[in-house]
Amino acid sequence: MPFTANRQFKKNPRMFVAAKDMHYTTSDGRQVLDGTAGLWCCNAGHARPRIVEAIARQAAELDYAPAFQMGHPKAFELANRIVDIAPDGLNHVLFTNSGSESVETALKVALAYHRVKGEGARSRLIGRERAYHGVNFGGISVGGIVTNRKMFGTLLGGVDHMPHTHNLAKNAFSKGLPEYGVELADELERIVTLHDASTIAAVIVEPVAGSTGVLIPPAGYLQRLRDITKKHGILLIFDEVITGFGRLGTPFGADYFGVTPDIMVTAKGLTNGVIPMGAVLVSSEIHDAFMGGPEHVIEFFHGYTYSGNPIASAAGLATLETYKEEGLLTRGAEMAPYFEEALHSLKGLPHVIDVRNIGLVGAIELQPIAGQPTKRAFSAFLKAFEAGVLIRTTGDIIALSPPLIVEKSHIDHIVGTLADILKTLE
Ligand code: PMP
Repeated sequence: MPFTANRQFKKNPRMFVAAKDMHYTTSDGRQVLDGTAGLWCCNAGHARPRIVEAIARQAAELDYAPAFQMGHPKAFELANRIVDIAPDGLNHVLFTNSGSESVETALKVALAYHRVKGEGARSRLIGRERAYHGVNFGGISVGGIVTNRKMFGTLLGGVDHMPHTHNLAKNAFSKGLPEYGVELADELERIVTLHDASTIAAVIVEPVAGSTGVLIPPAGYLQRLRDITKKHGILLIFDEVITGFGRLGTPFGADYFGVTPDIMVTAKGLTNGVIPMGAVLVSSEIHDAFMGGPEHVIEFFHGYTYSGNPIASAAGLATLETYKEEGLLTRGAEMAPYFEEALHSLKGLPHVIDVRNIGLVGAIELQPIAGQPTKRAFSAFLKAFEAGVLIRTTGDIIALSPPLIVEKSHIDHIVGTLADILKTLE
């Protein structure tokens, strides 16, 4: 099983056998409140009838169509619906099957774009420390999680990393955007000076880094990255696999921050996590750069057997309809103040060294046990599961990202359960 201590899991497996709306059912018949929207993806909650029915209908009508030299209407319809809700200027879509594939696709688009423009020397990629961009080779190369990188050789060449922005000494217990650290964006200028802008293709960042513990950018930081990339002709890629589709209370993180990238990477919430699918959005300028050659020539040598799969497309369309009908892409903004107050009520409890939040995502950082990193938070995870609440931990950080249909009573239950656990945690 992925990212799981498998030998330990085998001895004591935790199994879900059903899910509905805000709850999972375990194999021993217990209800578990979903505090994490699955893995930050089931934004409309579980087993939503419109999505279930769309999948069944599509499977009977057109189960598969090759994406090579053939198309089908639902993929185009979905691309159009995504563009409708995307930030202005991002108006072309490439489909993938996961966040990791979306990242690889985005990096390849960036490299190929400079080539078709006659600037093939722009081949360097810049990521960040503590970034998570999936598990494929491009993603772990620009990513910054040592454990995900160190077993796998030299990775991609020509990659630099900017520092992460997490600063407990200055920003602990921030609500919303941390106050200090905008100047960390200037590290990009240092890298540009080192290599020369003419060698740099793209910078990739998560607007809010999720998997490494909800690292929220300091106020002004993403805008400054945008200014620097623009000045030097470097593409800016936002990895919105978590921040996309309403997590921050806006359709995309780009909307929350008022910063539009050149390429946007999505997955997860696109199909409510129900069918694997991702989408990469690019600007017209990028799209048009590929379209300049002779008509019989393939513009971009890349794609997957399941790109724009009909059943995934139907799931995506039904998901976006559900989000629209229930106002879920902005519901996070309504619920965020309550979520924020509830989370920050944990300040002062044993082991809590930080609480931070933005939209409907938050984190509680615990003091690690000396010499036993990750143990304390994992113990909280097990206790919460026993108490009927699903949380996610990464290192000694507890992350919460409930489905966007969450009610105040659910938030009270999640936070109340955590408070009880923290009081008794070793
Ligand atoms: N990028 C980001 C920002 C992510 O959070 C994730 C998954 N958590 C990925 C990429 C990878 O997505 P997947 O697991 O679907 O490959």
